[in-house]
Amino acid sequence: MRKKIVAGNWKMNKTFEEAEDLVYEIADGIESMSLDDTEIIVCPPYVFLELTSDAVNDKKLKIGAQNVHHERSGSYTGEVSAAMLQSMDIKYVIVGHSERRKYFHESGEMLFQKVRIAREHELTPIFCCGEQLEDRKSGKHFDVVKAQLEETVFRLDEEHFARVIIAYEPVWAIGTGETASPEQAQEMHACIRDLIGKAYTDQTAADTTILYGGSCNPGNAASLFNNPDVDGGLIGGASLKSADFLEIIKHRLNT
Ligand code: PEP
Repeated sequence: MRKKIVAGNWKMNKTFEEAEDLVYEIADGIESMSLDDTEIIVCPPYVFLELTSDAVNDKKLKIGAQNVHHERSGSYTGEVSAAMLQSMDIKYVIVGHSERRKYFHESGEMLFQKVRIAREHELTPIFCCGEQLEDRKSGKHFDVVKAQLEETVFRLDEEHFARVIIAYEPVWAIGTGETASPEQAQEMHACIRDLIGKAYTDQTAADTTILYGGSCNPGNAASLFNNPDVDGGLIGGASLKSADFLEIIKHRLNT
């Protein structure tokens, strides 16, 4: 079901104590907010999942993981399975982030296995897609995003796809301080929604949550969220400071 969502991706940041401070600051900050149908999620590193889950117990904040392995279990030293996340009552997992695609060579096939196994374990994938700067400059950005969706989440049956959150994250905007304009974000989000309608049904397209990610901050959040097909944001750098993250959440609630 389509929701407004603000999700924070902490990436490989924070120590134990810093993570504890940040999660409490965010959880306490949203406690007095009237969230209605808006969901707030933070995705800390694996080692802090237990700490953060305990901290938000019974609070409005939800916890997600940043990654999951594409096999169910086995000899994959250092990796974490969907079953492990499920057993910790984790509900969300980021899949297909451009940093995982780039630094860990995650292929479309691997990402399909990840979303499939995540869904088998009742996890909601936050599936990232987005073009490189060269793709946009050469006018291929719509085709690139379409291909990324077709080789992964569009291979799920409709029942499972209906539980996927899409995050459009133009790679040239991630961590660069350069943001897609509200028009560029809306245009791509509308295109993604249209593609979902063609792959499944118009109802599923209308019900899918599509987030924008890429240098979203308190200064630009309102203009990005104020678009009919932008349901919220996946926030990197600005999710590491509680004041900034809470400010972005307020913009989501007010637009
Ligand atoms: C991200 O990595 O998902 C992201 C959107 O990062 P940033 O907000 O720092 O660009």
